[in-house]
Amino acid sequence: MFQFLYVEESAKDQPITRQIIQRYGMSPVYCEKYGEIFNRQSQNFRLQKENPSLILAKKNGHLVLETPKGYGIGTAKNFYFSHLLNCPFDCRYCFLQGLYSSANFVLFVNYQDFKDTIAKTIKENASEQCTFFAGYDSDSLALESITQFAHNFLPFFEAHPEALFEIRTKSTNINLLLKNRPLDNCIIAYSLMPHELSSHLENKTPSVKSRLEALLKLQHAGWPIGLRFDPLIFCDNFDKLYARFYAEVFETLNIEKIHSVTLGAFRMPKNIYKNITNLYPEEKLFAHSLTQRGSLVSYNESFECSLLNFCYEELLKYVPSDKLFAYDLQTMSATHD
Ligand code: SF4
Repeated sequence: MFQFLYVEESAKDQPITRQIIQRYGMSPVYCEKYGEIFNRQSQNFRLQKENPSLILAKKNGHLVLETPKGYGIGTAKNFYFSHLLNCPFDCRYCFLQGLYSSANFVLFVNYQDFKDTIAKTIKENASEQCTFFAGYDSDSLALESITQFAHNFLPFFEAHPEALFEIRTKSTNINLLLKNRPLDNCIIAYSLMPHELSSHLENKTPSVKSRLEALLKLQHAGWPIGLRFDPLIFCDNFDKLYARFYAEVFETLNIEKIHSVTLGAFRMPKNIYKNITNLYPEEKLFAHSLTQRGSLVSYNESFECSLLNFCYEELLKYVPSDKLFAYDLQTMSATHD
C-alpha cells in the first residue's frame, strides 16, 4: 500500500503507530526526525505522488492554530489542526502540491496531545463558542482505514458538545459515520464544484455525483452536513454551469438539514503558485486571468467580486443568508479541500 513505512523514534510507542505496524505487517524504517525523510532535497513530487511512503511522527507545538480572521461558519472563535500532511487525492488547484517538496504522507500520531490542546483551547475560550476544523493539510476521511482519525476524534467531540468540529472531505468512505450515532456538533463538510470542472481538476477523487450520494446518506442518518463551494474556478459558461449545479445540489439534498454553505474564489500564496505552475506548466487553470495581489495569486479584485457575487445570489435562492458564508481574498491565504 505504501512504498515504505518510516517511524520517528519519538512516535514508535504511540497507540496508532503500534496499530498501523500490526495491521499492515510492514517493517518500519526508524528515523530520528521525520524531516530527514520528508524534507530531503531533489525529491520528485509527481513521481512520489504515484507511490508515496507513510511517515509516522510526533507533532510538537503549534498543534491547534487560529484560522485566518473572518474564516468560519458562524462561531466566535475558529481553529484548525492538522494530523496529516499530504493527500491521496490530486486536485490541480490544491496548495499542497506546491507547499511540500515531498508527496509522502506524514501522519502525526500523538492524537492525545491534539485532544489535550483542543480541550485547553475550549476551556480558555469558555465564554465563546469555538469551531475546530480538520482537513487543512489533507483530506480528513480519505485515509481513515489507516489513520483512525474520525474514530478517535468523534468520541472526543461527543464529550465536548460546547464546541463544533468540522470534518472536511471529498471521500465517500463514510461507513464509520453511518455506523455511529450522529453528533449535532460534528459537521461533515464536502467540497463540491460542477461535474465538468471536477472531472478535469479533481484527480483521483470520488465523482461529484458520489459525493452528493454520500451527503444524502449522511443526511438520512442524521449528520449535520456542510457544503463547501471553494474554490470557485472561472470557466466558459461559468454562470450557466454554476447555476445549474446549485439547482441540482439543492434538489438532491434536504435544505433544512444543511448546517452551513461556504463560498470562496481561487487563491494561492505566490510561492506555492510558482511551484505548481513549474510542476504542471500545461495546466489551463493557471492561464485564466490570474494576477498577483500582495502575497497571493488570484483573480483580479473586481473579477473575483463578480464571481463571488453571482454565486452568492444564486445560493440565496436556496439557502438562508445566516447559513451562507462567503470568503474573499482577504480571508484565507490558501485553498485546498
Ligand atoms: S484539495 Fe483537498 S482533496 Fe484535493 S488534493 Fe488537496 S487536500 Fe486533497
